[in-house]
Amino acid sequence: MKVVLIGVGQAGGKVTQRLAEYDYDMGFGAVQGAMAVNTAQADLQSLDIDTMLIGRDRVKGHGVGGDNELGAEIMQDEATEVMDGLDAKLSTEAEAVVIVAGLGGGTGSGGAPALARELKRIHDIPVYVVGVLPGRDEGAIYQANAGRSLKTVAREADSLLLIDNDAWRTAGESMEEGYQEINDNIAQRLGLLFASGEIEAVDDIAESVVDSSEIINTLRPGGMAVLGYASAAASEDAGENVNAITSTTRNALLTGTSVPNVVEAETGLLVVAGQPERISRKGVERARSWIEEETGSMQVRGGDFPLDSERIATLVLLGGVERSNRIDEFMERAREAADAQEGAGPDAKEAFVNEELDDLF
Ligand code: GDP
Repeated sequence: MKVVLIGVGQAGGKVTQRLAEYDYDMGFGAVQGAMAVNTAQADLQSLDIDTMLIGRDRVKGHGVGGDNELGAEIMQDEATEVMDGLDAKLSTEAEAVVIVAGLGGGTGSGGAPALARELKRIHDIPVYVVGVLPGRDEGAIYQANAGRSLKTVAREADSLLLIDNDAWRTAGESMEEGYQEINDNIAQRLGLLFASGEIEAVDDIAESVVDSSEIINTLRPGGMAVLGYASAAASEDAGENVNAITSTTRNALLTGTSVPNVVEAETGLLVVAGQPERISRKGVERARSWIEEETGSMQVRGGDFPLDSERIATLVLLGGVERSNRIDEFMERAREAADAQEGAGPDAKEAFVNEELDDLF
């Protein structure tokens, strides 16, 4: 799937750059263009991709300091300039625009949903948001910001692909140490997903490759989506890899998802990457049926991604995953954080928890 990436805020810019680098280094050509937008000049200076400073009149290049309402207002005011900047990168071949943002901060948290809304007004191609959720140990303001932003993004974007900052890092690392690892993992996994829709089927080399439309159809339920990943050593003989494929699929879904403990979904897409002669058709078919049983979805697509590696890697994209305990748990944390910020007592807190978080706009 050919995509144009736009990172909003600090995390958004860093992850976007990493994704563009990965796609370039691997020679996939799925990332057609990448740019970073921020209200903080200093965060843009460390990036090598094209950048745009917004909100200059209001915050003078110093950022919005975690105020996501201000982040949303600035983006609403300057969306035309941002979209003009993006136009040059949006070739006729682009099949989706992907906005990347940390949902716990200010510029990305507020800016991503505002930009998604504006982009959807003028473009026919899908507008997806990759949203990074704060880890459990991050402060209350991050949780509260992310809760409000998440709701608003899920409403505005064609799909919100969620990544929990606790999911793809080694336990015990600090958040800072973990960023590089998380960003590398996001780049590799999302990079493979985008690239998987780019392979042309050439006779028997790749019998059942994934098409961009299958990624788009998997994300079609809207709302939220998650991505799972796992890899394992593989035998040279496809016949011996049935278990490698089914067990990596199980690991991708049960322990490797971008938001832990998400198993129910409306749609699914299984991509098995590796040397074509190592990929067992029977393994792919079994793994696909297993995902259907496990997620309760009747719409699980499957395909191969020829990749010159001695390992087999499995990607599982799930669409329409709102009904997950882990997301409910996060929303509860966000509501509690929002409540604590407002300084309400325990009774009021209880009442608040049972109510909905306000939308950002
Ligand atoms: P903004 O610049 O105002 O949009 O704020 P940030 O992008 O810094 O958003 C803060 C959130 O992003 C927090 O939850 C951070 O943990 C997270 N974050 C900041 N930098 C990174 C990064 O490089 N990678 C990841 N995965 N998360 C980050």
